[in-house]
Amino acid sequence: MKIGILTIGNELTSGRTQDTNSSFLARAFATQGWQVTLMTSVGDEDRVIKQALGFILAQSDAVVVTGGLGPTADDMTTEAIARAFGLGLYMDQTVLRHIRGIFEKYHLNWTENNAKQAVFPEGAEVIANPVGTAAGFALKQKGKLIVVIPGVPREVERMLPEGVFPLLRREFPEAVQQVAVRTIKSFGLGEAVVDKALADLDFERLSVTVGFYPNFPENHIVLTARGATESEAVSRISAAEAGVVDRLKKYIFAYDSETLEGLAAKLMTEKGWTLAVAESCTGGLVTDRLTDVPGSSVFLERSVITYSNAAKTDLLGVPTAILEKYGAVSEQTARLMAEGVRKLACTDLGLAITGIAGPAGGTDQKPVGTVYIALADEKETLCRHYTFRWDRRRNKVISSQAALLLLKRYLSGEREDV
Ligand code: AMP
Ligand code: MG
Repeated sequence: MKIGILTIGNELTSGRTQDTNSSFLARAFATQGWQVTLMTSVGDEDRVIKQALGFILAQSDAVVVTGGLGPTADDMTTEAIARAFGLGLYMDQTVLRHIRGIFEKYHLNWTENNAKQAVFPEGAEVIANPVGTAAGFALKQKGKLIVVIPGVPREVERMLPEGVFPLLRREFPEAVQQVAVRTIKSFGLGEAVVDKALADLDFERLSVTVGFYPNFPENHIVLTARGATESEAVSRISAAEAGVVDRLKKYIFAYDSETLEGLAAKLMTEKGWTLAVAESCTGGLVTDRLTDVPGSSVFLERSVITYSNAAKTDLLGVPTAILEKYGAVSEQTARLMAEGVRKLACTDLGLAITGIAGPAGGTDQKPVGTVYIALADEKETLCRHYTFRWDRRRNKVISSQAALLLLKRYLSGEREDV
């Protein structure tokens, strides 16, 4: 089934309100295996609404419309749609009683314009609104389905599963399919390289669609498959996934809703180990991400942001002589920071990051983006050196990623990749 989305409102075309309904609806339709052909926004204007409907329905089986169902004169979606199809209007007494009931319940003053929300095109089927006064409606015209719901996102979120999905399934029973989605999260390869590495995979033959979604500094590969049954959809995905994993194994760190910090936290918790972090160029970003994970207090003992040389000496015991000889951004300093914070906090592990985020501060030997990451346990200290090439913010973000990846790989025993 092909669906078009039409969002209506002057607040959208004037840029005052961002159209979040379209993306919400598109994502929801994708989960049902329904293809969205186009998404359009128009103002509250009779003629444009008619034109847009005609255009959308020429390439879709159904259109889902949001907005313009309010009681005020500027909202005119119902009238515009009725006119577009040459239909009259009628007042639905059940809906009118429902709206009046809401006014009485909340002791609101009734004004006659509120009755406008009980008016529908002739032949329309009412879609109840459990969280507001504006009911939606559906019309069947020339084999095409027109579904109209209010614009308030909270109401859209309720009415979609409760009113719209059942209607679409009833009208297009052959379009009811099972969909399986698998998100594969990779880090360390650019989008174009990922695309090239997978070029020999015949996703079409496997009946799987593939999408590449850069989500700095990660690249997500999203596989989607449909099937008459769930197991059919899942088995299609599995075949494609095996191919992707085979080619990108080293770069894959998580699946679906898993996050790098979540996986590192899970492994720390499972092992019952404790962690202390010393951050310089990341300014607390690694700790911010780790503390996003509920329950991180179980393993995270403390973090320090040691930005100056003095802080690295005072708090972590990095000798002044080392800082002077090798610099604050050096393998020697990173190792001593990790070992220092571990000792200070009496934890199992110490993680440290020091680098040059830019845009200033780089030299020929140590350009902007030079980062050292060290991880110390009781026996040894691992250290990794990177040269990132981004702006300040992204150098910080990617450094936090590299640090969490080092921790995660160490914990899961992927030593060869650490
Ligand atoms: P309406 O149904 O036109 O009365 O819209 C009510 C309110 O919902 C508007 O004032 C907006 O704040 C919000 N709204 C309408 N359409 C959208 C949309 N496409 N995306 C996000 N919010 C919307
Ligand atoms: Mg409006």
